[in-house]
Amino acid sequence: MGKSAKIKPSNLANPLMISSDLLINNKNWNRLVRSWSSEKLPHALLFHGPEGAGKEGHALELAALLNCTAITNKEPCGSCPSCKKTRSFQHENVKLILPLPRGNIKSSDDSIVKAFTNSTLKEYWELLKQKENEPYSPIRLTGANTILINSIRDLKHDLALSTVNNEWRIILIFQAEKLCLPSPEAAHSLLKVLEEPPEKTLFILVSSQPGAILDTIRSRCQSVYFPPISVQVLQERLVQSGADPVQAAVMVRISGGNVRLSQELIENSTDLMEKLYLLLNACFSSDPSIWNKCIDTIARLKTKDISQMEQLFRCAVLFFRDLLYYSATGSDDEIIFKNKMSKIDKLSKSYSEADWHSCIQHIENTQNYISRNGYLPLQIICMILDIQKSLRGEIYEPFRLSDWTPV
Ligand SMILES: [Zn+2]
Repeated sequence: MGKSAKIKPSNLANPLMISSDLLINNKNWNRLVRSWSSEKLPHALLFHGPEGAGKEGHALELAALLNCTAITNKEPCGSCPSCKKTRSFQHENVKLILPLPRGNIKSSDDSIVKAFTNSTLKEYWELLKQKENEPYSPIRLTGANTILINSIRDLKHDLALSTVNNEWRIILIFQAEKLCLPSPEAAHSLLKVLEEPPEKTLFILVSSQPGAILDTIRSRCQSVYFPPISVQVLQERLVQSGADPVQAAVMVRISGGNVRLSQELIENSTDLMEKLYLLLNACFSSDPSIWNKCIDTIARLKTKDISQMEQLFRCAVLFFRDLLYYSATGSDDEIIFKNKMSKIDKLSKSYSEADWHSCIQHIENTQNYISRNGYLPLQIICMILDIQKSLRGEIYEPFRLSDWTPV
């Protein structure tokens, strides 16, 4: 096992705002601030986009802005009592709704308080504490599969009362698709209040699966899309936090612009790289003992965590992509594995006939077969043999069922 590099968040981003570690989407933020300052903020917003793009963090920042008592440059100050309470999820006028386990709830009339058994409560506070320090950290409770109708009923009860100090009331609904999944009970209950919300009340629904939300809910929200974080920004963030530049470049590409995943990946990157080099070794070796070592490693990884196995295959694809790029251009400008430049140069010269593109296809196909529960040792051996054929420039003929079916 390689040792993991624990990454500390950088503190260079936002001097104001309630979280200094959130990568602000300026376009969205400015648009929201503009609507707010011209008093045109709609009463319901839907923040949607892929995981790890900062949707929940932005929802919290907006909630903080609305009640901040020392707004500076149209940003929440981050240090007034209201901002502090918003950040720590203790603001009396900021309500958080998310999927919860049933706990001791027996009927839809029960108060949501009954969902919180001792263990759920403990887990909940720990997750909130983590979220307070790390805006990309998820709040996923054990056994929580849906937003309970009890949460919405309690919310309606609260909304009937006036707000404390005449402040804005903000209702954050995280994983909002769970209003409708597996059944739309909570969504139907929410509809009425979403149609006729009380004054100075803002709903912010947050979802990475907006398609699962009922049209009737979606049509009542103004939608704000948060795209994945760009490779460049994410890479810079990891490097500034102390990550190795090559490992950061690889992990960022595997993360697909998901900040949280990029952090998790970089924390395990030394280990992942070791496994990658073993896999690459097997691809270029004719020694069956190395193949077996590689098979064992991948089999263990698959049993432990299939997503880690998929990440390993994606690392391998990136390495072959470097070989393809370098062999075609002779330039190292866009090379991801810059620390392996001499190896890439050597391989590209030794295998001048290689079809690198096919090698990438073999890896991707193998990953698909194994993910669909194909027989792992056989698939890996086939992949290695196919790659070795492609390295020699032999034409690869994939198996087609149609070739074997009588016309
Ligand atoms: Zn403030």
